[in-house]
Amino acid sequence: MSNGKKTVVIIGGGITGITTAYYLQKEIKENGLAIECKLVEATHRLGGKIQTVVKDGFVIERGPDSFLARKLSASRLVNEVGLSDQLVHNATGKSYILVKGKLYPMPGGSVMGIPTQIGPFVTTGLFSPIGKLRAAADFILPPTKTEGDISLGQFFRRRLGDEVVENLVEPLLSGIYAGDIDQLSLMATFPQFFHVEQKHGSLILGMKQSTPKPKQGHTSPKGIFQTLKTGLQSLVEEIENRLEPGSVLKGLRVEKIEKKEFDYELTLSNSEIMRADAIVVATPHQAVPAMFSQYEFFAPFNHMPATSVATVALAFPEAAIQHDIDGTGFVVSRNSDYTITACTWTHKKWPHTAPKGKVLLRCYVGRAGDEAIVEQADDEIVKVVMDDLNKIMNITASPEFSIVTRWKQAMPQYVVGHKERLEKIKEKMTEQLPGVFLAGSSYEGLGIPDCIDQGEEAVKKVLHYLQS
Ligand code: FAD
Repeated sequence: MSNGKKTVVIIGGGITGITTAYYLQKEIKENGLAIECKLVEATHRLGGKIQTVVKDGFVIERGPDSFLARKLSASRLVNEVGLSDQLVHNATGKSYILVKGKLYPMPGGSVMGIPTQIGPFVTTGLFSPIGKLRAAADFILPPTKTEGDISLGQFFRRRLGDEVVENLVEPLLSGIYAGDIDQLSLMATFPQFFHVEQKHGSLILGMKQSTPKPKQGHTSPKGIFQTLKTGLQSLVEEIENRLEPGSVLKGLRVEKIEKKEFDYELTLSNSEIMRADAIVVATPHQAVPAMFSQYEFFAPFNHMPATSVATVALAFPEAAIQHDIDGTGFVVSRNSDYTITACTWTHKKWPHTAPKGKVLLRCYVGRAGDEAIVEQADDEIVKVVMDDLNKIMNITASPEFSIVTRWKQAMPQYVVGHKERLEKIKEKMTEQLPGVFLAGSSYEGLGIPDCIDQGEEAVKKVLHYLQS
């Protein structure tokens, strides 16, 4: 505190860390606070999982490609940094589920796989008559009795039966978490489904009542996602441009954090020491126990799983697609003999991403329990993806180019009991590491808006701590 200012160090320059830095520096400036805010990022670039490649007129996202529009913190941040004119909603269109090798249109009115309209569920070929009858048991089954957390699988299988879960709910939900729904925590991922079920008795009737009806005369509904025409990385760049000069240290890893009598000492990978009065740890959970090796209460993070996935972007001329399917993409159920887990017809869902006359497909490989493919060489992954696509799309040419991006142990899994474990760790932190706060995708939501929310929350906690 040599210059009389308190120092806050933010560790990790993904969207969580840069949001924290941006809003904290804004508070400092606007209120003339005697606080200095530094951000330390292990790699040589900011953005973490947000990475865009702009190539030959294509805008290709290696990681996340959009965010949920109804969670407003992301669009608010976009406005803050002057990019609102670049915001676009996805084009709406048919989406499909691939079950046992066949594409089925998503039944109308399904919300995360839960029927909110009866007609489309009765007529879809996605489930057998017995599967449909079993799902109807939701109308009469009593609400779930549970003291604590249960898995998403346990909850949905009881209400809707295995067939609806495996052919619809599972591919949609595991598309978000790349997880195993029989392991994922209901309370940490979709507690709203539990609350709806408890309130209405039936999940189907409850979702039907709580889902807003489309407005009358509204002919072209907007898609539920938003992205930036210039790529999500442009959000990162605009935030970075607004951070205080000299406040960002890149290419330096925080290796060790020690509590001293009045503050904290951080050892960086170049052996330099930084001191801090407060710290926001915005790294993935795997990095935390090593930084705080003398605190055993972080050990549960050593056992918290994270799935590896790869995204595979493929560019083609339009003419190469012999069997063009009307729609924006599909997800694949586990009972299909496919390696890809999802495919977005990106040029249709996000028309700005491909030049006229070109096609951009983006596929995912890898999911919980089935991650070996991610370790394969690029050529091998592209070949496997092309073989899968050709089972349904008849693509006659090789891609003009492909971009494979591996995300190793990058999708944190909130398995049953996640919230309780996190609460215990946070309690210990309050006792033993006052002024240190966790934020980011490993903790309280992994969507971009959830990470931004956590960054904003971290700013409040830091200011409250320093000013109390
Ligand atoms: P990260 O982006 O992982 O950033 C953490 C940073 O910490 C990294 O830059 C890392 O280098 C740094 N770091 C680690 N250890 C240290 C250390 N010791 N010292 C200093 N720095 C360190 N979300 C959506 O909303 N929409 C989507 O469409 C979507 N799609 C996705 C697709 C993929 C393939 C993936 C992997 C994720 C997707 N997500 C999506 C989730 C979302 O992208 C992430 O949850 C979010 O970007 C994570 O941000 P973060 O800041 O918490 O972590």
